[in-house]
Amino acid sequence: MDRDLYRGGARLEALAARLHTARAMTKASILILEDDIEMRALLVRGLREEGYAAEGVGNGAHLLDWVTRSVPDAFVIDIGLPDADGRDVCQALRAQGIGAPVLFLTARSALPDRLSGFSAGGDDYLTKPFAFAELVARLDALLRRAGHDEAVTVAGLRLDPATHAAGAGGATVELTPTEFRLLARLAAAPGEAVRRRALVQAAWPHGAIVNDNTLDVYIARLRRKLTELPDAPAIRTVHGVGYSLR
Ligand code: CA
Repeated sequence: MDRDLYRGGARLEALAARLHTARAMTKASILILEDDIEMRALLVRGLREEGYAAEGVGNGAHLLDWVTRSVPDAFVIDIGLPDADGRDVCQALRAQGIGAPVLFLTARSALPDRLSGFSAGGDDYLTKPFAFAELVARLDALLRRAGHDEAVTVAGLRLDPATHAAGAGGATVELTPTEFRLLARLAAAPGEAVRRRALVQAAWPHGAIVNDNTLDVYIARLRRKLTELPDAPAIRTVHGVGYSLR
């Protein structure tokens, strides 16, 4: 297997696992740095209600201490802090090699001179006061851009986890999330026989009871959809084992 294919396969395997666990069960983790206690509590509560794993800290030192134990998927950082400028905190994160996206919060009055110096890494800012829905939309966009849902091309197939679409030869088909996870698992090991058990684990929630017939029905649907894609690999039956994409 050539190296690019291997890399693509490894990424897809991670992708399939993440789709199965993280995305299916919980949303991304967000760490909020905001010195205003009420605002912080509001943001933490609101984001938790949206399904994020949200936590809050009140100053830059706490945030930098926090990330020595665990790094969230994204940060919300208030620029106006008593002990630091939020952008300096962000720079300290980057200096530690932490690339998770940052959504800055800033007062509208302070905007003109604040706009300079936002670091490249896909970060964004929001001026106070803001609508909570806007915060959620910006965070979702940042997380998508950060590559959590980046499309992957492997085995001649383009797989886009954001839309659950598969493409090949200039055509695209929409898959259901379960079909997508099955295909991602197969594409993670192109040409190899993937055991039925491994497919079920990748595509269905942990502990789900999925009988052989159900898996076969899903594979049959997936096969039909793949035939709509010119030059797409096909799913072969490997008797006594499972399925293989080639
Ligand atoms: Ca503040």
